[in-house]
Amino acid sequence: MDKTIITRDLAQIVGGKFVLTHPDDLRVYSYDASNNTALPDFVVLPETTDQVSRIVKIARAHGLAIVPRGAGTGFCGGAIPVAGGVMIGFARMKKVIEVDLPNRVAIVEPGLINLDLSNAVAGDGYFYAPDPSSQAACTIGGNVASNSGGPHCLAYGVTANHILGLEVVLEDGTILWIGGKSPDEPGYDLVGAFIGSEGTFGIITKIMARLVPSPEAVRTLLAIFNTVEQASRAVGAIIAAGVIPAALEMMDATTMQAVEAAYHLGYPDDAGALLLIEVDGPREGLDDLTNIINDICREFDAREIRAARTAEERARLWMGRKNAIGALGRLAPNYYLQDGVVPRSKLPEVLAKQDALAKKYGLPIANVFHAGDGNLHPNILFDMKKPGEYAIVRKLGGEILKLCVDAGGTISGEHGIGIEKLEYMPLLFSEADLNEMRKLRAAIAPSQILNPCKMIPEGSRCGEVMRGQLAAGVAASGDVWV
Ligand SMILES: Cc1cc2nc3c(=O)[nH]c(=O)nc-3n(C[C@H](O)[C@H](O)[C@H](O)COP(=O)(O)OP(=O)(O)OC[C@H]3O[C@@H](n4cnc5c(N)ncnc54)[C@H](O)[C@@H]3O)c2cc1C
Repeated sequence: MDKTIITRDLAQIVGGKFVLTHPDDLRVYSYDASNNTALPDFVVLPETTDQVSRIVKIARAHGLAIVPRGAGTGFCGGAIPVAGGVMIGFARMKKVIEVDLPNRVAIVEPGLINLDLSNAVAGDGYFYAPDPSSQAACTIGGNVASNSGGPHCLAYGVTANHILGLEVVLEDGTILWIGGKSPDEPGYDLVGAFIGSEGTFGIITKIMARLVPSPEAVRTLLAIFNTVEQASRAVGAIIAAGVIPAALEMMDATTMQAVEAAYHLGYPDDAGALLLIEVDGPREGLDDLTNIINDICREFDAREIRAARTAEERARLWMGRKNAIGALGRLAPNYYLQDGVVPRSKLPEVLAKQDALAKKYGLPIANVFHAGDGNLHPNILFDMKKPGEYAIVRKLGGEILKLCVDAGGTISGEHGIGIEKLEYMPLLFSEADLNEMRKLRAAIAPSQILNPCKMIPEGSRCGEVMRGQLAAGVAASGDVWV
């Protein structure tokens, strides 16, 4: 590989200052929110789809891997360039291109921050519903590639339910529009195939997203319980009563303590868990729903229920949840966030077993998660600097995923597979299942230069690629995934 020639060619497309090759710059793009790192050879920051297409053609001509990157908030190592190559960053492609209110659709560029879309249409009484807790930082391109969820996806549905069309650049540089403003386009559901494909099928360069009318009214409650079990049972009972809250989130005692230390929200220091519950919709009837939820929480011995009376109070109730993961930094230098799913009814049982596993491995776990979806987010707290500790953390993380699968659940609720979950795919899928996925990938992106070694286990070939990065000394810290 002649780096000078490739740098020159890339600079001709985007301009010299948007091609990064200095090791200090590359390091900034070597990580995401997981504990893995690897350096790209080049980072390119395009401004248009045409530039993306030309970058892809150059990378392909040189046989280089291409890794799209949004904001790097992913938890599964999806944006880690394990095979080096060209990273395409979308920080300059963040425009809202069109807002079509009569059709309730917006067309945006992939680097747009999730929350910025809702902010752009709030004045017209609309919002973009999928709201990862990282929504102030993550990009819509990353959300589509990961099929992200979020607190309000319980009632509103995940990203896949809100995307009508995509402009994509294929591995040979072809620019393609798939889907469109009509809800049910004939032909294969290519939009469906691209959503959640983690950059392995193509580069997303425009997104046609649904806009949802803002609800007329919202009620937000915070219920505090003595135990996780009481809170978990209340979750099941609320849904069983026929109430589908817009959001139903849980936090355990460890997380509450970290949040309280950071934000002073008045969480009692001896409580076991809290539920953050929100219902929204037409004003008429919302108080009845709130009363049902109140009664159920009391039935499961909630010791205190707070209701937001103003927008400020609502924001304060949400503040703890939205910033909980950051607050964990007060408890340990590192955390390893797992993302399993269990049927809601199994929450009390699985959380108790998870607790037993934490004790067995001698590592604390802080839970903050989308309880209404049964989507667990145990954060294993540890210190990467302690020799051998990360290997134990990974083992515990794996056991938690097995627990979820044994309970009838799955290995990822919303964060995706990336490199983190590759080894667990066979827990869910047979070799025949995985082969069908490989065939689909080979049909859409046959040369495998698009985000290689992600999502589908490819055996020794990718193992070698990733070990090559390690041998070159460019992967650091938590790289035991090879
Ligand atoms: C504090 C915190 C809270 C979080 N809460 C949630 C949550 O509630 N729900 C949830 O689902 N996730 C959550 N996440 C995880 C993360 O924010 C999401 O997975 C998000 O969608 C990643 O977006 P990103 O822009 O950071 O993408 P990145 O991390 O940069 O990339 C993610 C994947 O998308 C691919 N990709 C990025 N852009 C493109 C593109 N234009 N074309 C093709 N592929 C692309 C990348 O290659 C990679 O595989 C959270 C993360 C943090 C740090």
